Amino acid sequence: TADPAAPARRVLLARPRGYCAGVDRAVQTVEKALEQYGAPIYVRKQIVHNTHVVRTLEERGAVFVDETAEVPEGAIVVFSAHGVAPVVHEEARGRSLATIDATCPLVTKVHREAVRFAKDDYDILLIGHEGHEEVIGTSGEAPEHITLVGGPEDVPNVEVRDPDKVAWLSQTTLSVDETNATVAALRERFPKLLDPPSDDICYATSNRQTAVKEIAAECELVLVVGSTNSSNSVRLVEVALDAGADAAHLVDNADQVDPEWLTAATTVGVTSGASVPDELVQDVLALLDRHGFSDVREVESAREKLTFSMPKELRRDLRAEA
Ligand code: SF4
Repeated sequence: TADPAAPARRVLLARPRGYCAGVDRAVQTVEKALEQYGAPIYVRKQIVHNTHVVRTLEERGAVFVDETAEVPEGAIVVFSAHGVAPVVHEEARGRSLATIDATCPLVTKVHREAVRFAKDDYDILLIGHEGHEEVIGTSGEAPEHITLVGGPEDVPNVEVRDPDKVAWLSQTTLSVDETNATVAALRERFPKLLDPPSDDICYATSNRQTAVKEIAAECELVLVVGSTNSSNSVRLVEVALDAGADAAHLVDNADQVDPEWLTAATTVGVTSGASVPDELVQDVLALLDRHGFSDVREVESAREKLTFSMPKELRRDLRAEA
């Protein structure tokens, strides 16, 4: 129970937060595939990087695997929002799998850029995190041409064939500010560095970072709801700290909020990554309410209206059924 003598406690709730158009489409793809074809539906890798979403879909009959080799011949497999390398499509064809590609169209756009730069024989410097599924997928489009750059610290060691023929691309879920710093360092080394035709960091990533920046400086604590393997969620913690929050923590759900964090705070910021259903944020708000943080103000910095249609393989069958 809140102490009536304690200073007013409030919550600043960032908006936009949570689900982006690509995640919404990917999750719906698995749901609709389950309805249309029945369980099991195999999904290669986590459909989106959120523990709760994966568990919920598993309960409904989705089977998550790491590689297509684990999917029985002839079964249906959904590719996750993060995209896959062309070799994965070939493997699936080799095993006669029926594939539904839930790759976010904004990731596909980066794949196309990689193919085009490679065709023009550019060395491509892909800014991103080693081992992340999206980076593995994008690199697979042109493995001979792509070099991964983790951040500004990697720039002095980058090797290219011709410094006048270099382009850069990036993972969609990076920190906007850090990526700008990496590009600036690359451009200093390679003045003729070619930019991607449009930003690779997606609208959802940059909008969520802008939104958390707006509230962070006023907060002693920022809670970012998201899973530890979610790149854009982890970035939100870093951005909140850079923007002036005294502390920021990534939590998968309300149970992971340590009440100790709340004792000294009067203003708590709340946001969530692009793969996080809003019910998890509502649970965190309910917990904060129980600790006296009942004054919740939503701070909106952008409106999002983008939606994507279902993957074409699924659309075809849904239409045939209608
Ligand atoms: Fe697509 Fe961006 Fe969402 Fe990733 S975070 S699924 S790139 S909209």
